[in-house]
Amino acid sequence: MPKGCEPSTVTVKLDASGRFHVSLLVDTVIESLPKSDKSIGLDVGITSLIATSNGDKIANPRHFKQLHSKLRRVQKSLSRKQKGSNNRDKGRVKVVKVHGQITDSRKDFLHKLTTQLVRENQTIVVEDLAIKNMVKNHKLAQSISDASWGELVRQLAYKCDWYGRKLIKIDRWFPTSKRCGNCGHIVDKMPLNVREWDCPKCGINHDRDINASKNVLAAGLAVAVCGANVRPAGHESKGRLRETRKGRKQKPQPVSLRNPCVFRPGRMSKETEKETCNTHLGEAAPYRGCRERNGANYSGRNLRELGGGRIPPPISHLIPLRRRACS
Ligand SMILES: [Zn+2]
Repeated sequence: MPKGCEPSTVTVKLDASGRFHVSLLVDTVIESLPKSDKSIGLDVGITSLIATSNGDKIANPRHFKQLHSKLRRVQKSLSRKQKGSNNRDKGRVKVVKVHGQITDSRKDFLHKLTTQLVRENQTIVVEDLAIKNMVKNHKLAQSISDASWGELVRQLAYKCDWYGRKLIKIDRWFPTSKRCGNCGHIVDKMPLNVREWDCPKCGINHDRDINASKNVLAAGLAVAVCGANVRPAGHESKGRLRETRKGRKQKPQPVSLRNPCVFRPGRMSKETEKETCNTHLGEAAPYRGCRERNGANYSGRNLRELGGGRIPPPISHLIPLRRRACS
């Protein structure tokens, strides 16, 4: 506890495994650390948790994966115990303890890492990642959650605030992995399995993650100097067909009057506005092409089952966003 401070609140918590946690709230001023002239760019990843622009890599400890088999064992054993029995209670404590072990080791590791980073560097640059969207990829979800990038950035943010450091988040669409840190050449593709590559323009050999972290730092410093948006204006992937989850390319579907219900909330185009109207939606029968209605997928078969395509208008998104003229 800081000197000369009296705790204003003391909270005692008992967690599920029977451990007591005491937290003290004190009113104090946290002094900034002496200024440093170092800055660092971080590229977060799964094989190495972070790669830094200094050329260091910090391995991902994979706390969950390490204890996964143990957790599985105790959870199975718990589910075999009779409900309401003493043994079930003992089993429950065992499960909770494994969870606690995972949380504790993760917290310990992240706190040590972030404190060190904040102590050593004046400016820290990270990518502003959409982790919520990234965990939708079910093949990577567990690894991404286990790496706890969000908590890492959260700790960096509040520690930078405490100690007078600067944390810069750069645009997530900035091509950090595809860009050569030496000459600025941007390659077309950079699949996840490529860990090392040679720049086709200048020939320099790059480690994927270290190169990315150098790009992150460069972009972050550009933001710090001119406050600009570092997203390149004419980035070439703009407008390119996106790959679907199954890996097939999906062409934009043309809007036709036969399939009036094409409008999805938040994605209404001008053509859609012309060709879809409240009256049409009220009387026109086939709502084929509409897939997002009430979470159900009304394919051709479903429509037939529902009575030859004459189904009531959907509830959720038929309320027009604004009044439209019917042509
Ligand atoms: Zn190059």
